[in-house]
Amino acid sequence: MAKGKYWHDGLQFSCQGCGHCCTFPGGFVYGSEKEFRRIAEYLDLPFETFLERYTEEIDGHVSLVSPDNGPCVFYDGECSIYPVRPSQCSSYPFWQDILKSKRRWEREAETCGGMKRGKHWTRKEIEVQAASRTENLMAAKKRPQSEPREDVHELAHHGRE
Ligand code: SF4
Repeated sequence: MAKGKYWHDGLQFSCQGCGHCCTFPGGFVYGSEKEFRRIAEYLDLPFETFLERYTEEIDGHVSLVSPDNGPCVFYDGECSIYPVRPSQCSSYPFWQDILKSKRRWEREAETCGGMKRGKHWTRKEIEVQAASRTENLMAAKKRPQSEPREDVHELAHHGRE
């Protein structure tokens, strides 16, 4: 991160649970294989079933589906997978794109009532959140494998015998 950014003294944010960011039309929720495996486990679903039922590819990234271009498929008045939600959601609004200028932060705050109030996030905490979002974006470019990793290793091992 460059020196002297407006957020280096920290920023305020506490989610108010309004659901705006989960119901925004045309929204998407990218996820990594690790994040999707965690959600599948939380829902007690085989990973392959989860992938088929709840994911799609958007612009080369794997995303949760948004039926009819509407709310997140797991939004039902509140987030139904909150403890295992992808880092795209847990790192919001500390995304590079939103942090890039004060003007951009202020504009985002017009739609998110949690910004500019509540918890004070330190520069370090913001950097951690922004990095986790960047990692999420990179990881979402890889199509998850439907086979459990153990099986893949086992096949590879047998192949060498
Ligand atoms: S828009 Fe902001 S306040 Fe509303 S649910 Fe999303 S993060 Fe929370």
